[in-house]
Amino acid sequence: MAPAQNPIISQHVAVIGAGAAGLVTARELRREGHTVVVFEREKQVGGLWIYSPKPESDPLSLDPTRSVVHSSVYESLRTNLPRECMGFTDFPFVPRLEDESRDSRRYPSHMEVLAYLQDFARAFNLEEMVRFETEVVRVEPVNEKWKVRSKTSGDCSNDEIFDAVVVCNGHYTEPYIAHIPGIKLWPGKQIHSHNYRVPDPFENEVVVVIGNFASGADISRDIAKVAKEVHIASRAREHDTYEKPPMPHSNLWVHSEIDTAHEDGSIVFKNGKVVYADSIVYCTGYKYYFPFLDTNGYMSIDENRIEHLYKHVFPPALAPGLSFVGLPGMGIQFVMFEIQSKWVASVLSGRFTLPSQDKMMEDIISSYETLDALSLPKRYTHKLGKIQCEYLNWIAEECGCPHVEHWRNQEVVRGYQRLVSHPETYRDEWDDDDLMEEAYNDFANKKLISFNPSYFLESRT
Ligand SMILES: Cc1cc2nc3c(=O)[nH]c(=O)nc-3n(C[C@H](O)[C@H](O)[C@H](O)COP(=O)(O)OP(=O)(O)OC[C@H]3O[C@@H](n4cnc5c(N)ncnc54)[C@H](O)[C@@H]3O)c2cc1C
Repeated sequence: MAPAQNPIISQHVAVIGAGAAGLVTARELRREGHTVVVFEREKQVGGLWIYSPKPESDPLSLDPTRSVVHSSVYESLRTNLPRECMGFTDFPFVPRLEDESRDSRRYPSHMEVLAYLQDFARAFNLEEMVRFETEVVRVEPVNEKWKVRSKTSGDCSNDEIFDAVVVCNGHYTEPYIAHIPGIKLWPGKQIHSHNYRVPDPFENEVVVVIGNFASGADISRDIAKVAKEVHIASRAREHDTYEKPPMPHSNLWVHSEIDTAHEDGSIVFKNGKVVYADSIVYCTGYKYYFPFLDTNGYMSIDENRIEHLYKHVFPPALAPGLSFVGLPGMGIQFVMFEIQSKWVASVLSGRFTLPSQDKMMEDIISSYETLDALSLPKRYTHKLGKIQCEYLNWIAEECGCPHVEHWRNQEVVRGYQRLVSHPETYRDEWDDDDLMEEAYNDFANKKLISFNPSYFLESRT
């Protein structure tokens, strides 16, 4: 889309959430000349990466009266991507070698990611825009503007009017529980990975873990250290799958998906195997959830498809006043937030314009048709998979910012290949030193790091 001829307009914008998406969105909006208020219900920045040892009281998070714990991070969590490709483009996520308390590993722990986001907020003075311990409870359009009702921890409620609202509330807090035929009568314990923290409660148990991607692969191996047996149910596997992954966990098996659960405690897999289990851990993902949003019926969620969003960011009927940053999961995350928020900021300022409402709807309908043609269910709408880089480069062109670097995209592609093929070791053994070198040289050329990349890379080998 060509730049608009309009003069630059400064808008008053509310951002919901001070996780990675909300922080970078606030920065980009302010850079573009907008005034920004970030609402954050926690006491600090970092969102998902603020580890809470205490999970929710209801292990399946089904009780609507429960008190919600935002984070889904477990104690042993390390990043599932190399740190170089995770960081924002102008603030690389590189080791802080001068500080011994920091984790310098290429796949660091969750604490290092939180420390990085705190560094980012400090470096760009972002906290001055954040109202902590302030939860947004209602957002509604009123006379071409947006009314935002917030509530402080002291239960003080406040209504304010904004020109625009950017939703950055995260989407890993509301669990999706896969249905298992017969589960109502099954007598064992059930927990969703959102509420998993440490393996200790599973000592000497027989445990079934449903799901075998990043969290499922990690949590099953974490539990296998203390459990009697761990059986992974994987939907992605053939019906007859029954495998024992190589050591060190001789008590771990991978099956195809579950067929049925029974009153006598048995779980029957589609491969015909029967396991008498004590616990089931659901690593079955999350649901998009915007309890504060009232759009007079313009928007809805159907089978985890948010209807309707142009390029996963703008609802045509309400754009550009309402937008969403951070919805597509997996892959390059922080840089996706950065590129999407540059787009939002530049559309709000009038530097770039969106197509007409009809054209945006046409694009959305055509994306639904593409999914249908591939026989993919609605819940795949916001999963970008292999086309993520193409998607990001399209937005980058739309708002005049650089494409995703070659090394960054390749690190994600090869990182996920390693995750699937070597879930035990992918964080500590890799075969993409060439990409790491390219990344650090890129940082040095752009003067984003103060150390010599070749000295740093050699000292690691
Ligand atoms: C287990 C797990 C591991 C992951 N590992 C990686 C990884 O290794 N690498 C990677 O790049 N990505 C990873 N991700 C993806 C990760 O979610 C994103 O990288 C990113 O941190 C999400 O940022 P966000 O700002 O969108 O959401 P969040 O970090 O969840 O932040 C949302 C913020 O909004 C606030 N909020 C919510 N509702 C309200 C409200 N009504 N009012 C006020 N504030 C509100 C919350 O308190 C929170 O601070 C992982 C995700 C999970 C679940």
